[in-house]
Amino acid sequence: MADRFRTSATQLAAVGRRFYNRGWVLGTSGNFSAVVSRKPLRLAITASGLAKRTLTPSQILACDEHANIVGRTSGKPSAETLLHIEIARQRRAGAVLHTHSVWSTMLSERHAREGSLTLERFEMLKGLSGVASHEHRERIPILDNDQDMPRLAARVGEMLEQHPGAHAFLLRQHGLYTWGDTLADAERHVEILEFLFETIGRTRTLLTTSGDTATPGGPSWRS
Ligand SMILES: [Zn+2]
Repeated sequence: MADRFRTSATQLAAVGRRFYNRGWVLGTSGNFSAVVSRKPLRLAITASGLAKRTLTPSQILACDEHANIVGRTSGKPSAETLLHIEIARQRRAGAVLHTHSVWSTMLSERHAREGSLTLERFEMLKGLSGVASHEHRERIPILDNDQDMPRLAARVGEMLEQHPGAHAFLLRQHGLYTWGDTLADAERHVEILEFLFETIGRTRTLLTTSGDTATPGGPSWRS
């Protein structure tokens, strides 16, 4: 397990620096985890309050299914560790990634009242695991933000049960959570979804400033 943890820590730190360079985890925002063992459940996860620009493997901690630090690592795990554990358990995800991008923050507020954002007919949707056609409809649930993590983790658990096909969810005015069987799958999901959020946001800006309207049959989103 120690080797697996070291490998995960190195990979998670590299993901953090890449995401910082894309502007998705500025400052100390965002957190990342990878499952090191399933039984017992052990996660490699980012420590709390660290700048992602300079994230190193030594800043990745090992935690158990109750968010307690285990093994030789020490420090405070990310405040949102319980959400990672809930997703790793329910989805049997190998990795969970959380970003705070401008576009996910804006769209999570814009669609909060409807409770979800639906993406369809984008070619990039085929980058989501198990999706073979651009005709796929991806419904991304939006949950209200909450600083009470046990309560929020319980709500995330309910939402995951209600949306078994979802690859991700948004926290309102906060950011994106997505996951995958492997860390590479989860990273790809972030790239795909951030691309689509930015595309939607920029297209709306374009339509607003040009007075144009959306092309029938063209790329679309809805609530
Ligand atoms: Zn966050």
